Amino acid sequence: MVDELSELIELLDQDHSPETNGRMAVCRRCGFRAVSQAGEHHVLLEGQAARAKAWLGGQATANRLTKAREALDT
Ligand SMILES: [Zn+2]
Repeated sequence: MVDELSELIELLDQDHSPETNGRMAVCRRCGFRAVSQAGEHHVLLEGQAARAKAWLGGQATANRLTKAREALDT
């Protein structure tokens, strides 16, 4: 399970760098925790794997829609 979590963290980090409000170590974009207020990496807690997968799945769909829209525009 730990491996799955670190894999998901990597995917989140690849998708975007954590954006915090500078006071709380929480990413504004995905709602998951960041390592620190500076937010270099995401942190997933035990039990958040399913939520992270759902979020990443939603992102993948959103990216596909964006690409499809771009393709229509050109
Ligand atoms: Zn995030």
